[in-house]
Amino acid sequence: MRPGFWQPQVFLAVRARVRKGSVSMLQEIRELLLDLFYPCQCPGCSRPVPGRVLLCPECRARLLQPRGFVPQGPLQLAVYRVFLYEGGIKSALHGAKFTGREDYLPRLAREMSAVLQGRTGMPWQGEGILPPAVIPVPTDPGRRKKRGYDIPEEIFRPWAEKNQLPFLPVLRRIRPTQPQYGLTRTERRENLKGCFALKQGAALPQRAILADDICTSGSTLLEAARVLKRGGVSRVYGLVLAAVE
Ligand SMILES: [Zn+2]
Repeated sequence: MRPGFWQPQVFLAVRARVRKGSVSMLQEIRELLLDLFYPCQCPGCSRPVPGRVLLCPECRARLLQPRGFVPQGPLQLAVYRVFLYEGGIKSALHGAKFTGREDYLPRLAREMSAVLQGRTGMPWQGEGILPPAVIPVPTDPGRRKKRGYDIPEEIFRPWAEKNQLPFLPVLRRIRPTQPQYGLTRTERRENLKGCFALKQGAALPQRAILADDICTSGSTLLEAARVLKRGGVSRVYGLVLAAVE
């Protein structure tokens, strides 16, 4: 029998995980309920996964390939990716996008956070400069409403809060776009041209980490970065959970 939420040890586990000023009690309760209702299996190989992570050790070892790269484009945007967009990571993001697997999101967030924790030499790190703000690439409002959650926000907000980086959802989509799958690089660029704008009255940081769940050609990040730069952000860096290259 699964432990009920009303049992004291479950309550104590929630309370123990709530850290003042970082993770809210509601968020922890929500995650705990998701953990209880969805038995944890690795989305890459269906093996049981211990703890509150997403991947089994074998799938993680294969998919975890953190590295920086610069997508082709007019902006020299340094992008950092954590995982390869394959296997269990691809299945989990697909599940969160199309089959309502919201429970994968806190697990993806924890996987990413664990990799970045304590890592040095990141493009946005440097001494004596203000910490950058984290700006999520906005989801199409229709898709967000249909899902009931926003994937980049669910993945990157906990990491930003944990690292005391401002989380600023200042971008919005101003027109619908086609899904990017199956389009060529040029078609992707055309599809996204002019689709982002700044929210009315948005206060912009000097430096920003533009965060998205998936990067294929980099067109989305480049288009969003262009809007931030035009708005006055002097340095923009990209951070993606998973990329194909
Ligand atoms: Zn696995």
